Amino acid sequence: MSEPRYNRQIRVTGIGRTGQQRIRKGRVALVGVGALGCAIADQLVRAGIGSIRLIDPDVPELSNIQRQCLIDESDVKKNTPKVQAAADKLSRANSEVAIDPRETMLDDQNASDLLSGVDIVLDGTDNFETRYLINRTCVRAGIPWIFGGVLAMSGMSLPILPGGPCLMCALGPEPPKGSMPTTADHGILACTVATIASLEVMRALKFLVGKPVLPNLVVIDLDRESQRTILVQPDPSCPVCSPA
Ligand SMILES: [Zn+2]
Repeated sequence: MSEPRYNRQIRVTGIGRTGQQRIRKGRVALVGVGALGCAIADQLVRAGIGSIRLIDPDVPELSNIQRQCLIDESDVKKNTPKVQAAADKLSRANSEVAIDPRETMLDDQNASDLLSGVDIVLDGTDNFETRYLINRTCVRAGIPWIFGGVLAMSGMSLPILPGGPCLMCALGPEPPKGSMPTTADHGILACTVATIASLEVMRALKFLVGKPVLPNLVVIDLDRESQRTILVQPDPSCPVCSPA
């Protein structure tokens, strides 16, 4: 670990050298390398995590560049898969981090495998079908994961920790496919993405350095400049996380 590289991070109270060493050992899986995923990966890799597995099946489009900070015009021209485009830029930013690009869609068949062998999973997806799949897989395997979602000028995030409330406890049953508003219809600003990505990364870093992480559902409205924090309680009848 090169210490000068992390000098400013080590100076932060609550991180220090010990925290940096813990971050350095951190193994992360990131589902989705779109807007949220690019911003999350960029911050985590620069912070010096040990390894990151990037999971995404897509190639970039011109309309992605506005908010996907690891995608550029040449990636769009060359149809470079998003995980590869991201991996190239990330390894240039920090060659100390092991980057494991997986050009595939997370599904029921591969989720247990793709989300295994990591300390924490971060949500860079844009749909609830995949998030509920991450939720089931991580709760079953006892792996913490951080939910995050963005739309237009607002977003939310919730850490889901083993033994604590899960995504279904917080948001209820999985919404029917296609029933939720999407950024394709309502748009999205890069500043919204950066805000929620930062919240997800903060929670991941807290977890990795051993600071307490509470199951707070944080909802941020950047237009109104307001934030709500709701401490989520476990639902004793939750079919995902409640011991039947
Ligand atoms: Zn639950």
